[in-house]
Amino acid sequence: MDLLLLGASGSIGRQTIDILKNNRQTFSLMGFSVGHKTRYISKLIRLFPEAKHIYMQSAQSYRWYKDKYPSINFYFGKEGLQQLLNNASYDMLVNALVGFVGLEPTLIALENNKKVALANKESLVVGGDLILKLLDSGKGTIYPIDSEHSAVYKCLKVQDKNVDKIILTASGGAFRNLSLSELNNVTSADALRHPTWKMGPKITIDCATMMNKCFEVVEAFYLFRYPYRKIGVILHDESYVHSMVRYKDGYYRAEINRPDMHNPIEFALFEGEIPFTTYSFQSLEELDKFHFHQLDYSRYPLMKHAEKLLKHRGSYGTVLNAANEVAVHAFLNSQISFLDIEKVIDYVIRHTRILKDVNYEKICQIDKKTRQKANKIIKLWSKMS
Ligand code: NAD
Ligand code: MG
Repeated sequence: MDLLLLGASGSIGRQTIDILKNNRQTFSLMGFSVGHKTRYISKLIRLFPEAKHIYMQSAQSYRWYKDKYPSINFYFGKEGLQQLLNNASYDMLVNALVGFVGLEPTLIALENNKKVALANKESLVVGGDLILKLLDSGKGTIYPIDSEHSAVYKCLKVQDKNVDKIILTASGGAFRNLSLSELNNVTSADALRHPTWKMGPKITIDCATMMNKCFEVVEAFYLFRYPYRKIGVILHDESYVHSMVRYKDGYYRAEINRPDMHNPIEFALFEGEIPFTTYSFQSLEELDKFHFHQLDYSRYPLMKHAEKLLKHRGSYGTVLNAANEVAVHAFLNSQISFLDIEKVIDYVIRHTRILKDVNYEKICQIDKKTRQKANKIIKLWSKMS
């Protein structure tokens, strides 16, 4: 199968490369993108000589690569990702970009009836309704890479009748043992120390604020098409139970495995057509090696946005995601405190009118405006403090 990998230099991207190296007979990497880590390009060209379409975010090294590898098409800048998608021939897009930038490639791939192995959950948070339309009207498909959704996908493959609830597990992130009041002075270095997973910086902060789980509830809604009330979240310390499905007869089914993203990535690349194991049990007490706790919504206030987003739909996800991206970026740059992330998001949501129907162009305008609004309030607050 011919693949296109976006975000090849990131955490998911590199783990995808590991899998491709071990499955050379099955996959050809026809093209890929990196962000600013352009030194990684030469290594990937050596590993995958079939790759003839390569994107880099900045223009700096573009000339050098173009001269060094005249038989390869290089792209950069704002329009570059789109050009890469339009010029390369591929069967499956592996979208391992982080943030809003991942939405457009997902839409283009689905418009062209391609398969999408999707790590970029922001695609569904921002453009879930556009994606549903494309899935319903075309032949494109999505295979989830997120570990929770991969687990649910597996459980539903075994049994998708009489589902009572989809239950996503959450580690609680870096500050799970701290109370809300103890979060006043935590730093970005503290927040980047995730207890069970090693991931890119943005999602690691999203885990600490629980925005990641909020996004994953939305992701589950669009991937599996169960209403909000049928999607639950439970805290689970070890990150071994990757999520579960509870059936109407009271039984649960779960995927239980050590935390390693290679597994869900591989499952998505193989379109779910490789052996897997799920376990059925009658109560959580049977899993006595593992620890579970009820999620306290007042401890993780950002979780409330999942219900709101799925009630309003329209532009809610775009506003929420843009405010979150700006706030997380500002926190990582020590411009705001950890607790300010939530304040920025709530301020922006409260001061933005949510539109009911949005197309991709409108989404881009709203994303831009929301970023400006969030940046403005961050500047203002930092002047005041
Ligand atoms: P990362 O930061 O490690 O990598 C992101 C990649 O996107 C990098 O290659 C970066 O260069 C590229 N990128 C970022 N902005 C770009 C831009 N404007 N233009 C072009 N390229 C750009 O992130 P990650 O942890 O690999 O996460 C990727 C996605 O997968 C996210 O949506 C995340 O929520 C999701 N995800 C990650 C994990 C994990 O274990 N890392 C698990 C589940 C889901
Ligand atoms: Mg996840």
